[in-house]
Amino acid sequence: MDYEVLLYYKYTTIEDPETFAQEHLAFCQELGLKGRILVAKEGINGTVSGLKKDTAAYQKALQADSRFAGILFKVDEANEHAFKKMFVRSRQEIVSLKLADDLNPNETTGEYLSPRAFKAALLDEDTVVIDARNDYEYDLGHFRGAIRPEIRNFRELPQWILEHKEEFMEKRVVTYCTGGIRCEKFSGWLVKEGFKDVGQLHGGIATYGKDPEVRGELWDGKMYVFDERISVEINQVDKHVVGRDWFDGSPCERYINCSNPECNRRILSSVENEEKYLGACSEACRNHPRNRYVKTHLFQK
Ligand SMILES: [Zn+2]
Repeated sequence: MDYEVLLYYKYTTIEDPETFAQEHLAFCQELGLKGRILVAKEGINGTVSGLKKDTAAYQKALQADSRFAGILFKVDEANEHAFKKMFVRSRQEIVSLKLADDLNPNETTGEYLSPRAFKAALLDEDTVVIDARNDYEYDLGHFRGAIRPEIRNFRELPQWILEHKEEFMEKRVVTYCTGGIRCEKFSGWLVKEGFKDVGQLHGGIATYGKDPEVRGELWDGKMYVFDERISVEINQVDKHVVGRDWFDGSPCERYINCSNPECNRRILSSVENEEKYLGACSEACRNHPRNRYVKTHLFQK
């Protein structure tokens, strides 16, 4: 295990994100890192991989920059890079929530919960736990008893909440996501919408899985990650598979993208069913003229 994968973010002010992105890219390349970093006026959101000495130098450099004081790095060991290239991009937001009335999580956000406090919330019958990720992430793994909003994309979450407001309004609401960044704004939005008691898992699922006390307990399945590893283990206490094959419902933790290039829906499928259904999530996708599976498997000579 000579490599590490870092996951981190910081809501802070970056005056000139364009210039910052260019300089930061050069810095990352100098260190031999690979990964994806988004930069905006509101902060930084990144995940990179590299040799341990290089990821250590990177963390040290960010921590030494007053803009990023207190930044929290979630660190996984790895055998190799988790990305093919290095990107640093300047954006409007570091996580795309596209609120009509944007907010600053440094001013408005839900109460930060330690892994221990979050575990207590999971066991509390009067607390509603909402998964603030996409549906395909939930389907591979989630906290036991957490609510799965029916959304294909994080941006749709506020609208979904508004449609279900009366179910949660009077209760304590606690949210979680992969590394914590999505919950910063989402929980802040809940506070702004008038929810009385809002909490968020500080450091996200990634931190919860490494906490020496809770050790990922009450997490079922695996955690989806946005790099070449695709998923990682979280629960060190008792592991259950919750992923189900899209086609036959049998236990499954293998992701494929629907073979219709216009759909690309992430679904779980065994190798056998991928072959049988030509890697497509529906009849329509199977018959799509540009179906990738048909192109690469059936007409390959
Ligand atoms: Zn499809």
